Amino acid sequence: MRFEITAPLLGAAYCHCTRCRRRTGTAASVSGQTAPGSFHVVEGAEEIRRWAPPDGAEKAFCGRCGSALFSRVPGDPPRIGVRLGALDQDPGVRPTHRQYTAYAVSWEPIPDDGLPRFPEARPSDA
Ligand SMILES: [Zn+2]
Repeated sequence: MRFEITAPLLGAAYCHCTRCRRRTGTAASVSGQTAPGSFHVVEGAEEIRRWAPPDGAEKAFCGRCGSALFSRVPGDPPRIGVRLGALDQDPGVRPTHRQYTAYAVSWEPIPDDGLPRFPEARPSDA
């Protein structure tokens, strides 16, 4: 499937939560926040598979290749967070913080990149 983003991303962050670890198979996930109304699926919408945990944002994956694509919080407009690794081009933003570091894996140290770390969600995102 393909999607496009028609406005600059508002920001990006790493997430070290257990759910992101499991859904990506990696130590952390990095996602970018889209501006309201700027995210559009342009091809292969029928390939999208979704998982909506009872206590979190819906996660969308490609049913053909398994790639993690985006998260979606219902609303008008919905809040969409894209997985930066799913983008073809430079996202134009850089991750600004790390959240849920209390749940970071034991097998890979968090990089010493100077980014602010939050043991749970970044307070302003709550
Ligand atoms: Zn997470």
